[in-house]
Amino acid sequence: MESLAAIGLGPRWNQERVRRFQDRRLLRLVRHAYENVPHYRRLFEKAGLRPEAIRGVEDLGRIPITHRSDFQAGAEEVVARGYDPRRLITHRSSGTTGEPMTMRRTWFEERLLHVFRLWVQMSEGLRPTDARAAIALHRWIDPKLRDRHKWPERFGLFVRYALSCEIAPEELLEQLLRLRPEVLQGYPNQIAAVGLAAKRSGTTGLKPRLILSGGETLTPLLLSQIREYFCAPVLVNYAAHEFNLLAYQCREEGLFHVCGESLILEVIHEGRPAAEGETGEVVGTALHSFAMPVIRYRLNDLVTVGPQRCPCGLEGPTLSAIQGRVIEMFTLPSGRKLHPYSLVVPMSKAAVSWLRQYQIIQERVDSIRFLMEPVREPSPEEMASVQRVLRDELEESVAIQLELVSEIRPGSNGKHRPYYTRVKSGSA
Ligand SMILES: [Zn+2]
Repeated sequence: MESLAAIGLGPRWNQERVRRFQDRRLLRLVRHAYENVPHYRRLFEKAGLRPEAIRGVEDLGRIPITHRSDFQAGAEEVVARGYDPRRLITHRSSGTTGEPMTMRRTWFEERLLHVFRLWVQMSEGLRPTDARAAIALHRWIDPKLRDRHKWPERFGLFVRYALSCEIAPEELLEQLLRLRPEVLQGYPNQIAAVGLAAKRSGTTGLKPRLILSGGETLTPLLLSQIREYFCAPVLVNYAAHEFNLLAYQCREEGLFHVCGESLILEVIHEGRPAAEGETGEVVGTALHSFAMPVIRYRLNDLVTVGPQRCPCGLEGPTLSAIQGRVIEMFTLPSGRKLHPYSLVVPMSKAAVSWLRQYQIIQERVDSIRFLMEPVREPSPEEMASVQRVLRDELEESVAIQLELVSEIRPGSNGKHRPYYTRVKSGSA
């Protein structure tokens, strides 16, 4: 019931009340994870920490950080005792940090986060009768989710069309002109590309009232492109599989409100909490996930801490920038622009049993290197199957180089770059 109250009324709670809720939740979560989840039990024991030592958010910093690689272990390590992993809703994440991982939640936990996100989007201007078109990667959506999310749509409410980020912008534009959504959401690279296609074709039929950008970093360049093509406010929803929504952009002031009803968000700079104006890494604790607890989880995203009170009047932590994850499109010999996700998804799927981390580097227009750090030595057949699925996505003239490496190092900024291109845009 407390979850429902937080989600349903949370956005109306004052900071004091949010904080009290976080304290209570954290106690329950820590005890539950210690008793029922092998990963956390080990983590605590290794640190010589008893769950009783955590009395509230103040003590959070004493808990060691959990990394993505910890969640790559089998379900038996990370799913709490008493939950059947096969019945949980799964989110398989592939692209953003270069390490495939599966997140699991119960049906109830999933709905709760979904409703919370809708609630936030309504504060951003979404109306229940609006149709939303979401341009993203939908290949890995759990079929259990696909059907069950649909019932309000029978009444014409919260209608959502899923459009693939993998198809050409011209084709996306055609689909969008048929659907005429009031809200356009998804990857900003693709939204900008659709806008450009609309501009080139001279059509004025696509007029979203609101644009919600997510899934990758909205760079200033992309923002200016999207603003140029569409006369609609552009707001960022900062989300990740592990938490659903983490923060959302204030309609009035451009800052991001942290979703304190849903998670505890820490920003860590050189091992300590970042001060206002400082940039650091996001470490999050999910307050509504008990099937697969997420406690002090390092997300591999960079953000900048904003003031404790937004000029719009809302209290609570804010972020002033989300540097996050930048995605670079690969331009192929034919001139086709390829979203790196199109390679990441089939590759991760084909190599799910042995791939730990990868890095995809486009060296030349016609040559792409795939650095793969394996958990174990893959067999020749396994390598051949990866080669095959990548070949299906790429033109004949593009050379595919698979390379097994012992370690993939992060870039100079400390962030892992899952993919990038050395081809200057425009030179292809
Ligand atoms: Zn605000």
